[in-house]
Amino acid sequence: MRTTTLFRRAESGYAQRECIARVQDSVRFVANDSCVARRRYPDCVSRWGPPRIRSLDEFLTLPRRSRLSEELERALAAAAGMHMLKSNLHPVPVRITSTTSEAGAYRYRKADPIDVRVSSRSGHVATGFLHELGHLVDHQVHYDRQSRVWASAVHAAFAGWRAAAARLDLRPFPGGSHRKRYFQSAQEVWARSYAQTVLLRSDDQYLRMQLDALQSVDEPHVWPADEFEPVAVEVELVFERLGLTQLELPIAA
Ligand SMILES: [Zn+2]
Repeated sequence: MRTTTLFRRAESGYAQRECIARVQDSVRFVANDSCVARRRYPDCVSRWGPPRIRSLDEFLTLPRRSRLSEELERALAAAAGMHMLKSNLHPVPVRITSTTSEAGAYRYRKADPIDVRVSSRSGHVATGFLHELGHLVDHQVHYDRQSRVWASAVHAAFAGWRAAAARLDLRPFPGGSHRKRYFQSAQEVWARSYAQTVLLRSDDQYLRMQLDALQSVDEPHVWPADEFEPVAVEVELVFERLGLTQLELPIAA
């Protein structure tokens, strides 16, 4: 079904499984990194200097000569209008793919991003991109090297969001039990909450229409407006608590 493939990403037997946010659960079954070492991984994004608070658009490099560039720019501008990020990362590349099996992917290795991938063929470019950006933000706010747990599951600033998200009705998700479990994980619910909040709070009519269209067909990756509103407030509060909403940086006297 089309709706079930909206955010589907390669799940098994994929060479870069450790890098894909959605197979986080499966990573634990990899006994050690020996299989990783044999594979030729793409490079992770490097870091420079101490972590510092910067505008979100400084953390991503969008593709320039794509017909999707404008939509991605609008989506990134909407997210950057909601919050900043504290990090010492160099910009993470956003790459367009032509895959039909997944709307997007956030690839990473351990604590470091590799890239954000967005399918040109999903029909939901802005939403798919924001979903993956939500994963990147979750991963970069907190990553525990031992447990491999991300901010959405454990960080104190996300506690209000976790409580609000727990009150949401479960969205229908036809599929196998493993994928269903992932669909309801903190990581995945966060990415969906994040994307919906950015679309909802955006000044961009075009982006808000995308959310309306998804809600009008009861797409499982979004929640009905009334039910979602308390969660949107909590997503915004996460960034308040993290001190990432002061968009005008003070000028030192
Ligand atoms: Zn996801």
